[in-house]
Amino acid sequence: MRTITIRYTSFRECPNCEGRGDDGAPWRPAECRRCKGRGRLVTDIEVEDSVDGLLPRSRYDFNALGEVYLLDFDEDEEFEVVRARDPWG
Ligand SMILES: [Zn+2]
Repeated sequence: MRTITIRYTSFRECPNCEGRGDDGAPWRPAECRRCKGRGRLVTDIEVEDSVDGLLPRSRYDFNALGEVYLLDFDEDEEFEVVRARDPWG
């Protein structure tokens, strides 16, 4: 089956929580809404298609939480999405 491999290649510290992942409250800290508790935001990714190779930036979109949206893909085509490793380690 066609495989789409996603690699998270670049991150930055979440400016909202300064990398803590929460609001720093001493009692029952709340999860940071911007990074969802991860402390880091995704700034760059690589998407490799088993058919077309490395996809140009115009073929996908992503957000700071690491959600990836493939563009111009045939909805009828089946493919498996693989995340190369857990970006939040
Ligand atoms: Zn945060």
